[in-house]
Amino acid sequence: MKLGLVIDLDTCVGCHACAVACKEWNGSSAVSGPLSDYEPYGAEPSGVWFNRIRHYEIGEYPDNKTLNLPMSCMHCEDAACVTVCPTGASYKRPEDGIVLIDQDKCMGCNLCSWACPYGARELDRSSGTMKKCTLCVDRIYDLELPVEERQPACVLACPAHARMFGDLDDPDSAASQAVRERGGFGLMSELGYKPVNQYLPARKPRPIPVQTSPSPPPGRTRTFINRMIKR
Ligand code: SF4
Ligand code: SF4
Ligand code: SF4
Repeated sequence: MKLGLVIDLDTCVGCHACAVACKEWNGSSAVSGPLSDYEPYGAEPSGVWFNRIRHYEIGEYPDNKTLNLPMSCMHCEDAACVTVCPTGASYKRPEDGIVLIDQDKCMGCNLCSWACPYGARELDRSSGTMKKCTLCVDRIYDLELPVEERQPACVLACPAHARMFGDLDDPDSAASQAVRERGGFGLMSELGYKPVNQYLPARKPRPIPVQTSPSPPPGRTRTFINRMIKR
């Protein structure tokens, strides 16, 4: 089994709901919580976030668009973070492929963070240990939850339904089918770490149609502008 996320770059609107839901769930999780915040009300707040959304402007006006790129641990098949960890704290579960960190074995040496090409590892300064996306391992196997809720918090929160969760080893899973039908790809797969998470490509930017603005009637400029503002 190869559990992972499939993220649709065509429908992601970059709202950060997935990141907030992730922080909320994992902050109170026994697996990885609490997740520290540093100077949350200061000029430069920061903290531990497992899922971060990057925003890029691609193309050139008028053939441009914003691309929103949510990124978390890719649960790589050949995970560099696992290879370099000197204490065995980082490990990949053979039964489902989830990459986890044993908080009791981690000494916060940062080696895994330097090795991860996706910037997925977050050193929690309060605990002195490394943390990262757990694929919500404490949700997806929780038999107390209704079956439809046994999914990662980020998937359940996404208002655009841009996130899917499933077994990417099973060709019949909805996640695998979406990857097949939409030409899904692993981010920076040329590096050879075999990321399990997959992205569905965004459509090319559509040119913005050029329109001439209506001219204000002579002598009525102020009224015209006021009317435009009220709209
Ligand atoms: S920070 Fe922790 S998980 Fe990462 S390499 Fe060091 S001991 Fe291993
Ligand atoms: S799977 Fe869970 S831990 Fe990973 S990014 Fe989504 S909400 Fe966060
Ligand atoms: S919640 Fe969905 S739409 Fe919003 S940033 Fe995350 S993936 Fe994109």
